[in-house]
Amino acid sequence: MRAKSVGRIPRAAVGEPRRRSVYERELRPLLERERERLRSLVGALAAAERALAESQGEEGDYGGDQADLASDLSEGELDVGLERAERRRLADVEDALMRLDAGSYGRCERCGEMILLGRLRALPWTRVCIGCAMAAGAASARGAIGLPQ
Ligand SMILES: [Zn+2]
Repeated sequence: MRAKSVGRIPRAAVGEPRRRSVYERELRPLLERERERLRSLVGALAAAERALAESQGEEGDYGGDQADLASDLSEGELDVGLERAERRRLADVEDALMRLDAGSYGRCERCGEMILLGRLRALPWTRVCIGCAMAAGAASARGAIGLPQ
C-alpha cells in the first residue's frame, strides 16, 4: 500500500541515489586514501622482509648460533603475519572500490540488506551488515572455545 506513494520506483531503490552520492563524496576518498596507505605499507614490509631474508642468509654463512637464528625467525614471522594482514585489508579495500564502481557497494553480502551508513563510515571496506558480522563473530568465538557452531 505504501508503495503507491513512491509511484513506479521499487521500494528497495528509494533513498539509494542519495546514499550513492554519500558513498562517492565521503567513502570513495576514504577508500582511495586507505588503498594508497596500504600499498606503500605492503611495499615497505615486503622490502624489509627481503632485506631480513638476505641478512639471515649472510649469517648462515658465518654459522650464527641457534639463539640468534631463533630470534631472527620469530622477527621474520611477525613481519610476514603483519604483511599478510595488510595485504588482506588491501584486497578488501580494492574490492570495496570495485563494488562502488559496479554499484553493488553498501549491500550486505550475506543477507542482502543495506549496511548502515555509520558502519560504512567506520569500516568502509566491510562486506556485511552488523547483524551478519555479529552472527559470524559469535560463531567463530564459539568455535575458538570448542563449542559447536
Ligand atoms: Zn547482513
